[in-house]
Amino acid sequence: MVTADLIIRSGLVVSPDSVIEASVAIRDGRIVAVGDEAAMPAAKESVDARGLHVLPGAIDDHVHFRDPGYPHKEDFASGTAAAAFGGVTTVFDMPNTIPPTGTPDILAAKLDMAAGKSHVDFGLYALLGEDTLAHVPELAKSAIGFKLYMGNTFGKIPSPSTGVTLEAFEIAAGTGKRISLHAETNSIMERRETRLRQAGRTDPLAHLASRPAVVAVEAVSRAAILAEWTGARIHVLHISSSEELRPLREAKARGVDITGETCPHYVLLSTDDYARLAGVIRVNPPVREAYNHQPIWNALADGTIDVIATDHAPHAPEEKTRNDIFDVDCGFPGVETQMPLMLTEVNAGRFSICDYVRWSAANPAMIWGLYPRKGVIQAGADADIAVVDLGREWTLDDARLQSLSKITPFHGRRVKGLPLHTLVRGRFVMKDRTLVPATRGWGRSVHAIQQLPPPRPQNIDRTMKAITGTAGLPGMRGAAA
Ligand SMILES: [Zn+2]
Repeated sequence: MVTADLIIRSGLVVSPDSVIEASVAIRDGRIVAVGDEAAMPAAKESVDARGLHVLPGAIDDHVHFRDPGYPHKEDFASGTAAAAFGGVTTVFDMPNTIPPTGTPDILAAKLDMAAGKSHVDFGLYALLGEDTLAHVPELAKSAIGFKLYMGNTFGKIPSPSTGVTLEAFEIAAGTGKRISLHAETNSIMERRETRLRQAGRTDPLAHLASRPAVVAVEAVSRAAILAEWTGARIHVLHISSSEELRPLREAKARGVDITGETCPHYVLLSTDDYARLAGVIRVNPPVREAYNHQPIWNALADGTIDVIATDHAPHAPEEKTRNDIFDVDCGFPGVETQMPLMLTEVNAGRFSICDYVRWSAANPAMIWGLYPRKGVIQAGADADIAVVDLGREWTLDDARLQSLSKITPFHGRRVKGLPLHTLVRGRFVMKDRTLVPATRGWGRSVHAIQQLPPPRPQNIDRTMKAITGTAGLPGMRGAAA
């Protein structure tokens, strides 16, 4: 057998189905063997993982690294350093940067920028909006997928009307790429926020009052209908409520290609935390009542929700601590704290570590066409690995985050379970809780290895293109849905 570059010796290797004591041999960035220590080839380097868990690196399909456009909040180097510390080996970055990632030129420039700075592998979303439809076929060639904002959030990307959304789904369906949805209905939120302001409500809970769960229920239901009609593949981002699980379950049951994710803050924080955290907890969709937690956990367990992601959305402390809740920027960092927070729940017995890697690595790899190249520890896969000490206890401390924006709602929280080393394609990007600075620029866009099933567009005789001969024209900006 040829010499390996690195062997991770005698750790507890985790898959969605099993935990086995095994060594992992790596050569040229790929895993070449998983098995008994005695069966391993010779190696140039090795790391002792006895007593540690060896996980496929997390694939976080929802981060905002603010680059280009908001260098005081985050950039691709700091964001991916945070990922490395969090055991996250692939990130998908959202398009609400400046300029928004809506044309092939802008996407190409952002790919170049990210490749020059990234410590981990990445994919970039392209914006699916009223003014970008004509670019969709070209964008599809190098984006990991599309993002459509059914509701406004940070960056104030205009929300397409239902008419535009239908045409957007028609065009995207022809590419086979998945569309990630900010599934909150804008017109409901806008009206309620205006009325709340008029009524003098600017307290933290006014944010929740402006976005009750019906905004998500309505948006998920409508998106599922349009996806079913067009054959578009959709992914519901940041599921926050028990109520939106019903339209998600029903759509899955009738065969819509729909997947879903939730984030740690929707199962670990609640309305009980608003008074203590004020603007720091402001995020879209909002953190909701504690009664939502168990149904969301259950939905992960039964497969209704597929993925744990983070919606890593950093802002500077002064942007998170304004008095008027509607002036506070929405979101907070999460890519570095997701794994320790979830491993704490594993330690508490809420679910198994096998479940965790299903939601954090295997499922996102499958959904986004990266499996089995990523999301699994087996021969042939990229050596994207988090070596974790499940017994290590410590306290989350904002000041020690890699992110440029050092303010989160999890500051001071006790956790148990810590990534010690993170490898991306066989190379340590974080080792012994220390960043490997030379890996800046090591990250590569994963669109090149993405393999999706063939597109399955529906009702193709009734699309905008079929009835008019053209598609994706900017056209009239209609009234919002
Ligand atoms: Zn987001």
